[in-house]
Amino acid sequence: MTTGSPRPGGPAGPFALAPLRYPEDALAPVISSRTLKLHHGRHHRAYMDRLNELVEDSPLGSLQLEDVVKRAASVPEWTAIFDNAAQAWNHDFYWRSLSPRGGRPAGRLKERIDADFGGYASFAARFVEAAGARFGSGWVWLVAHRGRLEIVSTANADTPIAHEMVCLLALDVWEHAYYLDYHDRRSDHAAAVIEHRLDWGFAAENLAGVS
Ligand code: MN
Repeated sequence: MTTGSPRPGGPAGPFALAPLRYPEDALAPVISSRTLKLHHGRHHRAYMDRLNELVEDSPLGSLQLEDVVKRAASVPEWTAIFDNAAQAWNHDFYWRSLSPRGGRPAGRLKERIDADFGGYASFAARFVEAAGARFGSGWVWLVAHRGRLEIVSTANADTPIAHEMVCLLALDVWEHAYYLDYHDRRSDHAAAVIEHRLDWGFAAENLAGVS
């Protein structure tokens, strides 16, 4: 199957692929420009395009993407809509979780990391461990849940926003996210992202919305 040229005005449908907020080579060498180009331009776009096909002529098409995910999560006949909507949302959140500069948690977020994980080093070790332990495809997240910060991992397209958790940061651990750059060394990739490419300012913004 080939991807045709876009229609005038872009592909049909209510949901659009947002451009990356940094150049395609900005995350190298942790995430190469080749990986970023394929991951954003092909994988993420494919989820978005398929979602648009699935919600064509459906009332779901008038909702915010996050609300499509939440609505479709509990409806068995909407499994394909959920999978594609969740992957569209998860990837958008993932791109925003990454930064060319990286950094460390500060302020209230640092206090919460210290309180709930016993310090940044312990948080980082547990996040890497969760990335390595996810069997098959999925995601690792830093979330706020019931008044605490937690590391959770989800399988395939599943997402914390379908489980009443607030996402602070995401790491994609599907093979397409790291295989070109790290081959089977998923844990090394996760450690490098945490060390050099997480956007803690984005995480702090997300925490600010949590009481
Ligand atoms: Mn992905």
